[in-house]
Amino acid sequence: MPIPKVGLPIDEGLPLLFELGSPGAGAASIRRSDVPEIDRRRAIGAEFLADDAPDLPAVGELDLVRHYTRLSHRLFSVDGNFYPLGSCTMKYNPRVNETAAAMPGFADLHPYQDERDVQGILELLHRLRTDLEEISGLAEVTLQPSAGAAGEMTGLMIINAYHRSRGENRTKVLTPDSAHGTNPATCAVCGRSASTVKSRPDGRVDLDDLRAQVDENTAALMITNPNTVGVFDEQIAEIAKIVHAKGAELYLDGANMNALLGIARPGAFGVDVMHFNTHKTFSTPHGGGGPGAGPVGVAKHLKPFLPTPQVIRRDDGSFGWSDEREHSIGKVRSFYGQTGVLIRAYAYIRSIGSDGLLNVSRKAVLAANYLAARLKDRFDMPFPPPYAHEFIMVPRVAGTGVTELDIAKRLIDHGFHPPTMSWPIAHCLMIEPTETESLATLDAFADAMLAIADEIDAAPETVKTAPHTMPVKRMDEVTASRKPNVRWK
Ligand SMILES: *Cc1c(COP(=O)(O)O)cnc(C)c1O
Repeated sequence: MPIPKVGLPIDEGLPLLFELGSPGAGAASIRRSDVPEIDRRRAIGAEFLADDAPDLPAVGELDLVRHYTRLSHRLFSVDGNFYPLGSCTMKYNPRVNETAAAMPGFADLHPYQDERDVQGILELLHRLRTDLEEISGLAEVTLQPSAGAAGEMTGLMIINAYHRSRGENRTKVLTPDSAHGTNPATCAVCGRSASTVKSRPDGRVDLDDLRAQVDENTAALMITNPNTVGVFDEQIAEIAKIVHAKGAELYLDGANMNALLGIARPGAFGVDVMHFNTHKTFSTPHGGGGPGAGPVGVAKHLKPFLPTPQVIRRDDGSFGWSDEREHSIGKVRSFYGQTGVLIRAYAYIRSIGSDGLLNVSRKAVLAANYLAARLKDRFDMPFPPPYAHEFIMVPRVAGTGVTELDIAKRLIDHGFHPPTMSWPIAHCLMIEPTETESLATLDAFADAMLAIADEIDAAPETVKTAPHTMPVKRMDEVTASRKPNVRWK
């Protein structure tokens, strides 16, 4: 076997650990035991013992390290490649967050410890809660929900409890047609039916359709603003008025606050409930289904319904948990939430400060609009600029047989992670650069997209058969996700 190179892209296959090394080699030398051997068959039972020792690879420590390092270099990651993954806010995760979360005073805590022994983490959680209240312009925030979808569920449970407290059982929830898939799913989980409100051609809510649909049976409108087609709906205050006039609540899906930080506060534009995704906006790592956190903020009239326990500051200045809440919906998660993730979010907010947060949103918006301006002559832009933190474009592929999936695969050859595809409108790509990419990276990405646009016209087959530089080429996507076969041979 030739010695494999480290780094992307890799053409040749990697040997397995079993194929490396030689008999007798090993990564560890274990001293002979000075405890007398016992008869394993008698002590454990013959039926539990294999006849042969397992066939373990025999490689030296350095070969072992290199093997796994090579494998890790075959993966895309935010640390290795640009991820323009729309709606996911895949920004850089600053290392200071990790350092903070790994401090023994945080990392070694146990949720059953006495309040008096854990004042530090309680103060941190209380401060984070207060910061999020400030950022959102809402009266109170709970840190409990585990992620965005869990935050949505918590928010809708709060809204339902509020209506019930007024003797009403409102069963309908409105969502614009550009809503994230989790919004209608949340409605179903909470026993509410989701009805779709139309959007205008410019991506804003069709107010006439909203007026026609909102009624005394409407629990809430769940809206994302800036929405998933990348535009900020300036009618939001008017939307809030229309919804409130029928006694319904305005829910903001605030998963991506990357365009609003320090610029606009949802509480000020009429939002009653919102969730945050700390793992998007506040730079806590995500992807691969890893832990996130979905704090929920509510306006004053919904405070009695928040989950318990809530972290509080007592009159004597100490911190603690409170279960006192008149109409609480109860607990939505074991213990107190994803504390490790929340520490990272707090470290992020405090390390950049309020000026830094404003700068994040300004740069994120600038980066998205810059890329859109560089690409607009070769890709169709179905919604007019200006954009917020992301935008939608549709490749010009008529008569070539090239699809948005082919383009995404071809982008991998250029060293970029594919963007979100085919959502929220057919055949589109959804690009979200975030504030953390340099101008050089944004330009390299734009150059790659333009090169692919040329290729679609001149050599569509090259695009259709991409990627060409990856160890794994085209997969049967459905089978790969439904029945993954990750065995060797
Ligand atoms: C990511 C996202 C969600 C879901 O958040 P999870 O943490 O993945 O549950 C909801 N709404 C929008 C707009 C999102 O981008």
